Amino acid sequence: MLSYILKNSLSLPSSTQPAGIYIHIPFCIRKCPYCDFYSTIDISLQSAFLDALTREMQLTRNDALRFDTLYIGGGTPSVLGVGRIGRIIESTRSQFHILSNAEITVEVNPGTVNPHKLKDYIDSGVNRINIGVQSFQDANLNFLGRLHTGKSAKLAVKQAQNTGFNNIGLDLVFGLPGQTRTDWLLDLRQAVELEPAHLSCYILSYEPETPMDRDRKAGRFQPLPEQRVSDLFETTLAFLSNHGYHQYEISNFARSIPGDSEPFRSRHNRKYWSFVPYIGLGPSAHSFFGKTRYWNHRNTGKYIKNLEAGRLAVAEKEGLNREQLMMEAIYLGLRQTQGIFIDAFNKQFGISFKDTFEEMTTHLEGKGLIRLSQNRCALTSKGMLLLDSIASMFV
Ligand code: SF4
Repeated sequence: MLSYILKNSLSLPSSTQPAGIYIHIPFCIRKCPYCDFYSTIDISLQSAFLDALTREMQLTRNDALRFDTLYIGGGTPSVLGVGRIGRIIESTRSQFHILSNAEITVEVNPGTVNPHKLKDYIDSGVNRINIGVQSFQDANLNFLGRLHTGKSAKLAVKQAQNTGFNNIGLDLVFGLPGQTRTDWLLDLRQAVELEPAHLSCYILSYEPETPMDRDRKAGRFQPLPEQRVSDLFETTLAFLSNHGYHQYEISNFARSIPGDSEPFRSRHNRKYWSFVPYIGLGPSAHSFFGKTRYWNHRNTGKYIKNLEAGRLAVAEKEGLNREQLMMEAIYLGLRQTQGIFIDAFNKQFGISFKDTFEEMTTHLEGKGLIRLSQNRCALTSKGMLLLDSIASMFV
């Protein structure tokens, strides 16, 4: 276990570790007012997008890497018609070396899946499904501008279970205006009653330029005060821990099975936090290789046009220098409950973490925001809510 974590915590990308593939399906039926992920409601672009995606795979083909995760996200991948996810997986397998034990995830939204589609996913090799539930309460779903109801969210989970999925993740959102502890516990209880393998509990954030952020700025509602958000976060940690869910990242919890807390953690997402290379395909998707990060245009038309012309749709590329990599290592390490492995950090960057950041870590420890031990530096639950500002203090 420890050797696995050490190997995966702070090492720079190396082709000896299996890499990951992310495919961004850029379609949604409607835009949710709080969302700043790239997607379009112009579903008519589906066929051209799928052709462009195949072309992008051919141009990106990499025989040197092996992949043990494929994550099809978005957007709403489940808006694609039956058979299309299967064809995407087939094309991916034909261009990349996908290992036989790969974790293959598809994100779905309630109301856009049915038993037929889910069976098609399983037959295509999908072995993990992530359902965008957000809440089981219709009033919350209305506020979030979601198209589904609490009832259809439960139905989607049941259908996935009945189809044979045992690795099911649910996304939930909390910290809504006026939300009380009792309200939030109602969602958490309904979630654990469904016995998903994984739960992601995100704090509602007001992303700049989203309709919800504009409404907030215009005073159309009052966001939940920070202290109450923090109480709900503590409630989440206590409740999920009491119900057998192990927190491994600020927002992510996996069901433990006796003697093993690993099996249901998202193998794919852990690559993002551990400097393992990943290839992103589709509009707005990010890729990370060696010390280079690049990302595609956030525009489906532009993406298609580039690929039709036989060019990759890369919008920008950035090389990370040693300082940037160090800061990323701190930020990504602190996101995870395991924290930063100090020996690995020292070895990687040729400095002493404890000496370099002594003043800061003493200050943060005194405030109860981090826990420092012989070989680890991790955030406390109080510190987790301040990740961005704490990480920026190391700059
Ligand atoms: S369905 Fe998901 S990706 Fe689409 S707009 Fe809503 S939150 Fe964003």
